[in-house]
Amino acid sequence: MRKKFLFTPGPTPLPPEVQEALSRPIIHHRTTDYQEIFAEVNEGLKYIFQTQNPVFTFASSGTGVMEAAVVNLTREGEKALAIVGGKFGERWKEILEAFGRECVSLDVEWGSAPRVEEVEKILDENPEVEVVFAALCETSTGTKMDIKSLAELCNKKGKILVVDAISGLVAMELRTDEWGVDVVVAGSQKGIMLPPGLAFLSISEKAWKKIENNHIKAYYFDLKKTRKAYEKTDTPFTPAVGLIVALRESLKMIKEEGLENIWRKFSLISFAVREAVKTLGLEIFSRYPAEAVTAVKVPEGIDGIELYKAMKDRIGVQVAGGQAHLKGKIIRIAHMGYMDYTDAIVAISALEMALSILGYSVEFGKGVGKVMEIFMKEGVFK
Ligand SMILES: *Cc1c(COP(=O)(O)O)cnc(C)c1O
Repeated sequence: MRKKFLFTPGPTPLPPEVQEALSRPIIHHRTTDYQEIFAEVNEGLKYIFQTQNPVFTFASSGTGVMEAAVVNLTREGEKALAIVGGKFGERWKEILEAFGRECVSLDVEWGSAPRVEEVEKILDENPEVEVVFAALCETSTGTKMDIKSLAELCNKKGKILVVDAISGLVAMELRTDEWGVDVVVAGSQKGIMLPPGLAFLSISEKAWKKIENNHIKAYYFDLKKTRKAYEKTDTPFTPAVGLIVALRESLKMIKEEGLENIWRKFSLISFAVREAVKTLGLEIFSRYPAEAVTAVKVPEGIDGIELYKAMKDRIGVQVAGGQAHLKGKIIRIAHMGYMDYTDAIVAISALEMALSILGYSVEFGKGVGKVMEIFMKEGVFK
């Protein structure tokens, strides 16, 4: 049996501190013991979201809070804008349509991101749009969106900006309050170093005004009800107690390392991985590569599914493949959560060996050497 390494953009590996917390006996949630933990977690979440506003926690996958954002912030029949450049942009559109909202979509080529002027143009053409849905990191293509500029535009035009930061949060720079982002959604199994099962959502005062005026057709995801309970350090329904206890540990670790240090770490790791990939003669899929995940084009003549399988089954290093029409065309290497500089060396060495197994000509160590060179030059291990 191979030792297994997980480099997928969710779920991500768990640190021992989190694993230990997950193994503790369960406690009851209507107790002061739990309430103390929940209060501490709520403060820690504000730090990682970089906001003074409350961050609500739900027991669901990330998509649950995407749905919560749509259902609470928009009304039936309302026109809303979604930026679509991959699988998760499409998800905004699908959720909007599932709930009878009219989705205006700004479609960009997968692997690309719209310029702010393009967003401005579509907003001018659709003045009824009040809410804009986007993603910090489009995980399906490894693409970063300039959320700072988008938030500036949305504020100028009086629009509410909702950002899917499910893969980007913690791994990539996101300054919710400073940039003026209204709503941020995230999940537990990516940058936050927990198993899947928790989802989070932060809301600005501006967004609250709209929510308060909406007639919300939601029950579990009714944010007004959630806020009422939150004010008493409580949740309307049974929280995922075990995960919240573990969350306290991961938030402590993030605070200790420092968010800006983590952003810098993944920025350098992703840079080194991109440079290594190019050194091997491969291309980066995205035109605006994200720091949280690198999508690599599978070279001509190599089957991407075989490459993925060779890495996973023969070497023990699991990356993600491509989704939808990118299946077999790209592989995706995550840089988020409990991953460090040395992990990049492992991932690139596995890529070199798997390419060689499939008959692609590789000079062993060329990519790995590049990663080492960059880390040493930047004084990472000083
Ligand atoms: C993973 C991911 C999601 C979906 O999250 P689930 O937890 O699988 O529901 C949504 N958006 C982005 C950008 C993601 O990376």
